[in-house]
Amino acid sequence: MPEIFEKTKCLIIGSGPAGYTAAIYAARADMKPVLYQGIQPGGQLTITTEIENFPGYPNGISGIEMMEDLKKQAERFGADIRWGSVVKVDFSKRPFVIHTDDNKIIHADSVIIATGASAKWLGIPSENKFSGYGVSACAVCDGFFYKGKVVAVVGGGDTAAEEATYLSKLCKKVYLVHRRDELRASKAMQNKVLNTANIEVIWNNLPQEIVGTEEEFTKAVTGIILKNTKTGKESKLDIDGVFIAIGHNPNSELFVGQIELHDNGYIKTEPGSTKTSVEGVFAAGDIQDYYYRQAITAAGSGCMAAIEAERLLSSEK
Ligand code: NDP
Repeated sequence: MPEIFEKTKCLIIGSGPAGYTAAIYAARADMKPVLYQGIQPGGQLTITTEIENFPGYPNGISGIEMMEDLKKQAERFGADIRWGSVVKVDFSKRPFVIHTDDNKIIHADSVIIATGASAKWLGIPSENKFSGYGVSACAVCDGFFYKGKVVAVVGGGDTAAEEATYLSKLCKKVYLVHRRDELRASKAMQNKVLNTANIEVIWNNLPQEIVGTEEEFTKAVTGIILKNTKTGKESKLDIDGVFIAIGHNPNSELFVGQIELHDNGYIKTEPGSTKTSVEGVFAAGDIQDYYYRQAITAAGSGCMAAIEAERLLSSEK
């Protein structure tokens, strides 16, 4: 298939709240942005159940619906939203050169990276089966559904400690299941966990299976099978939900060697800005934020990226 050459003022990579918000702002600024949605159109929010903490939705909204609305809003102002992925970028000179999986070579005056991060999963089949029905990777998003209930958090890092602490304020009991006998989390977070009455750490244990009822309308988690990593002994813990908090992977492979990344793989941006180490390339949302990781903060940084891109191009006219 012959390659097709195109040119755009603003190319946006990724379709979560950061990418779509950037598209809304860039389109309204007459930059005629082109957005590639990537392999998971709508991003991480499309795999959560209900979003109840995004301002403006008093009754909550499903992640899929919200992403569809954001997409339509961007299209209303002329954003060119495309199904497909970027497969290669060259940021060595401007215009930047972007290769896509639909055989296009796009010359872009500015690029906004909003490829997000993906939660790591344990990789056991039952995790997938109960995803959204008692298995979650975000306590702030889904914790509310477990008010007064018993839950488990899997992991031993800062995210797990933070999720457990957050859930302890909502839930009757929180088990923190960790595969070793020592937490990786910072001392301050460890102290919080160990000094919270309704958090119990289950050391040296790894989940083997998540169990529950599987009927269509009553699908729910009821327990988790654990295996002691020292003794090999299996046990069952009765719980209503499980939060997997074993880390996230930033979707930054495409940009290795092109822009500066932190040691943990997230893109470096200037403090208080979405500017990356390459002038004209901006990063918004979870790909550059491993602290807040919320839809609303991602949307806010998407807006910042579009404004910064527009101001840069205007200043160069
Ligand atoms: P981490 O990589 O720090 O921790 C992951 C945890 O999950 C580890 O305890 C690890 O166990 C465990 N784990 C990994 N894979 C598996 C598996 N397959 N089965 C069972 N357990 C597993 O990730 P985090 O998301 O916690 O943190 C990422 C970064 O973000 C860190 O730098 C952290 O400090 C930072 N962060 C900071 C926060 C803050 O400052 N408020 C909040 C959240 C994150 P093991 O220890 O045995 O390797």
